Amino acid sequence: MKETENVISMQNVYFSYNSAEVLSGVSFDLKKGAFLGIVGPNGSGKTTLIRLMLGFLKPQIGDIYLFGQPAFLFKDWHRIGYLPQKTSFSDNHFPAKVKEIVALGLLSKKRSPKRIFREDLRIIDKYLDLFGIIDLKEKFIGELSGGQRQRVLLAKAMVNEPELLILDEPTTALDPETRERFFDILKEINNKKAMTIIMITHDIGTIGRYASNMLYLDKRVIFFGTFESFCNSNDMTEYFGEFAQHLICHRHDTGDIYKKSYGRI
Ligand code: ADP
Repeated sequence: MKETENVISMQNVYFSYNSAEVLSGVSFDLKKGAFLGIVGPNGSGKTTLIRLMLGFLKPQIGDIYLFGQPAFLFKDWHRIGYLPQKTSFSDNHFPAKVKEIVALGLLSKKRSPKRIFREDLRIIDKYLDLFGIIDLKEKFIGELSGGQRQRVLLAKAMVNEPELLILDEPTTALDPETRERFFDILKEINNKKAMTIIMITHDIGTIGRYASNMLYLDKRVIFFGTFESFCNSNDMTEYFGEFAQHLICHRHDTGDIYKKSYGRI
């Protein structure tokens, strides 16, 4: 298969751990520049889906393409920024400073020599500044709070401006103000650089304000499409009930209350 406009293509994917089926007949295509929110209950297969996309797992049935190449053969890792739920940086004794961890994100893009130049330092500072952690750059990651650490890892995932950014529940450790700012930054990068974004989130009340597409997963695809079509779907009203659909679609005023409380940045 040649390089296509589809960043991800999943075709009739079935996956089981041992004998327990976790994903059943999953199919969808994601176009370049899309911002996809993946939502669904705990244990519905969201993280497994991401691991399949990245070729870390192989489906028993079905095909998965990443930038038009079979996912399990994919090697152009510099094109992807990935922030899993748990990383080794969560270890309190990880011996690296904030600026060094963010620099690692840039190195993945470089061929040889894998060195940091003056221009790189400027880009690193730009991302530290964007996430409000520039004052922490000389600190060791183990000294930081959970929310600060999360911001460092987000800066690391985004600093080389990958074509595809995959985030597994990135906002859980963030305070509301940082979370709003983080969503704003994502949206801006998505718009300006056409970076494709895939984000697993529990934040269903917020994601609809930023993402263009939604995948609702419950071992199978309950819904895949634009937020607009989700919000106008009678089938989804029937599936979720009117209240839950409105919560996702923001046909309620929580967003305005939210903005008034925390302000926009
Ligand atoms: P989600 O991200 O939606 O919470 P997961 O993809 O993490 O769901 O998990 C889906 C199901 O697969 C869960 O029932 C989980 O317990 C199971 N599971 C996840 N990882 C493994 C594994 N490595 N081995 C066996 N079962 C697993």
